[in-house]
Amino acid sequence: MCEIVLVSACLAGLKTRYDAQASPHERVIELLREGKALPVCPEQLGGLPTPRDKAEIDSGSGEEVLKGLSRILNEKGEDITDKFVRGATETLKIVEMMGIKRAIMKERSPSCGVNSIIRGGREVRGKGVTTALLQDRGIEVISSDSL
Ligand code: SF4
Repeated sequence: MCEIVLVSACLAGLKTRYDAQASPHERVIELLREGKALPVCPEQLGGLPTPRDKAEIDSGSGEEVLKGLSRILNEKGEDITDKFVRGATETLKIVEMMGIKRAIMKERSPSCGVNSIIRGGREVRGKGVTTALLQDRGIEVISSDSL
């Protein structure tokens, strides 16, 4: 059986982003066509609508959010941390059920970022909430920027 890789749904060309657009990546779409990729959008899985307000990790990184030391605020200032944490845990459920070992995630997202996230409109070092949880459980997470 071939290895299935979890991929951020927006990289697979699905319009799951906050602005209802996609961030298609040729290599990810190729994996999907070959039946080797499973697209998932943690924010949709967490119960957020599309389109939705832009959101950022308030301070620190995804690890701090998971530990309850930081939160996720949308551009209206609403605390939507619980949706992000739910999206991360639901994504982990899929990964564990399917025995997935690797993921390709969209850089700079508060859910999927691997090396960087956006804060105050600027790129800063950090990882998204779902990436932090997957890495904590031993999943190899590859940045979309490194493909
Ligand atoms: S949460 Fe992840 S998969 Fe969903 S739109 Fe944002 S970057 Fe893409």
